Amino acid sequence: MSDRRIRSVVIVGGGTAGWMVAAALAQALQGSCRIELVESEQIGTIGVGEATIPPIKLFNQTLGIDENAFIAATQGTFKLGIEFVGWAHRGHRYFHPFGTYGADFDKVPLHHYWLRERMRGDRTPLQDYSLAWVAARDGKFSPPSSDRRQVLSTLDYAYQFDAGLYAAFLRKYAEARGVRRTEGRVVAVELRPEDGFIERVRLEGGAALEGDLFIDCSGFRGLLIEEALHAGYDDWRHWLPCDRAVAVACEHGSEFVPYTRSTAHEAGWQWRIPLQHRVGNGHVYCSAFTDDDTATRVLLDHLDGQPLGTPRALRFTTGRRRQFWHRNCVAVGLAAGFLEPLESTSIHLIQTAITRLLALFPDRDFDPLTRTEFNRLTALEYERIRDFLILHYHANQRDEPMWRHVARMEIPEPLAYKLAHFRGHGRLAAEPLELFQNSNWLAVMAGQEIHPERYDPLVDLRTQVDAPARLASLRQVIAEVAAAMPSQRDYIDRHCRAP
Ligand code: FAD
Repeated sequence: MSDRRIRSVVIVGGGTAGWMVAAALAQALQGSCRIELVESEQIGTIGVGEATIPPIKLFNQTLGIDENAFIAATQGTFKLGIEFVGWAHRGHRYFHPFGTYGADFDKVPLHHYWLRERMRGDRTPLQDYSLAWVAARDGKFSPPSSDRRQVLSTLDYAYQFDAGLYAAFLRKYAEARGVRRTEGRVVAVELRPEDGFIERVRLEGGAALEGDLFIDCSGFRGLLIEEALHAGYDDWRHWLPCDRAVAVACEHGSEFVPYTRSTAHEAGWQWRIPLQHRVGNGHVYCSAFTDDDTATRVLLDHLDGQPLGTPRALRFTTGRRRQFWHRNCVAVGLAAGFLEPLESTSIHLIQTAITRLLALFPDRDFDPLTRTEFNRLTALEYERIRDFLILHYHANQRDEPMWRHVARMEIPEPLAYKLAHFRGHGRLAAEPLELFQNSNWLAVMAGQEIHPERYDPLVDLRTQVDAPARLASLRQVIAEVAAAMPSQRDYIDRHCRAP
């Protein structure tokens, strides 16, 4: 048999996507294949993308990255969840915590007992059963315990970091493992006449980079996957209508909290991501319902500190590439699609694209079955995340035109199915391999004030369970465990300072 191994990979783009791919491939391929990355400082990166979700820990661990060094190098903070302010209606707030609600004390999930007590008049919010929330509220942080009998095992966490510093950190990692970086602007993509596969990318000045496999990390424009290969794009703005953002960092108040905040505004929402050295802010909005000047004013009016620099405008189309992998090109990052940053899922989608690429790594035959599978799994993942995001918009009681519009819009069938289950019986219907699991769906459904008509009938049959006492003692233990945790600042000062 002839040798059909991939000999060289060319990555176009050096944002978070490009350097995550470069680092992961360098680690996985162990020098057996040439890896080149081309990026253009003149074009730059998108520069936002600073909040993540818990699986990122696994990405860093797979690369063998030391967590404390990583937090120090990226001015990072820990993230225990997202606080949603004004989403259900004005003046309302809830927390989507990482981890679970308490520890189930019975076969029946805890939230059904909570629902029964609620129907009897107990107004304790669900989040009071989340250690992640109680710790976040008090500015505390500690990594979870691996002992599942401990309440400290019920929280999970992710990171908030400076995107530019993260890319630089990964660049150092990748270059140390043999990745070659070229500075330059790609001006042409040359295809093989016989099958339309990409043969090389041509740089300004005439130099060319040839490869067997091309990874398009060029950002929204999709230089390879769209401009050269015309993979197509499914526009999802009828479900996720926000299409612009304006972003600016600001100075800190005193303390950096271990969570991201998302505050609903008249025609969009504003993120607040506290890092060690500054706070990242941005207003995501819908251009059909407000204008750029108003959106910028709303952003600046809601900063906690002095802005650092001038607000930057960004435009996007929510949706996904029809084919993420086309011929010998795989799109990763913004080149693959964009679902808006409400639940910090974009960097995660980069991570899972890399995992999938390695699980389905091709040889030079590029069996179409391999890319069909890659595309099938990726499309499914995008659709499931999309539905979770739509839920946040759809289940609102606000009265401005954009919010009324999204409350009335038709929603995808799988989301309607999940909502029917929760509304009817308080049951969750996440699929086993879905990124967002029952506890995540529960946080947002309950948080957005969807009140189920019934709770699980097993609750009333399990007469031996003294639920009010169990719930009260759980709240008590959670409060005690959170009180014993260090503040996030103390934790970082103690563990994550650069030498
Ligand atoms: P980019 O950062 O745009 O990088 C593209 C690269 O391609 C650059 O290096 C550029 O120089 C290069 N390039 C382009 N054209 C050429 C050319 N012709 N020649 C050579 N090089 C070229 N994600 C999260 O996970 N959490 C968040 O909180 C979050 N917030 C976001 C908020 C907003 C408003 C937006 C728009 C996105 C957000 N994201 C978030 C998404 C996140 O920013 C991206 O997923 C992430 O930064 C990866 O971007 P990228 O590397 O694909 O693209």
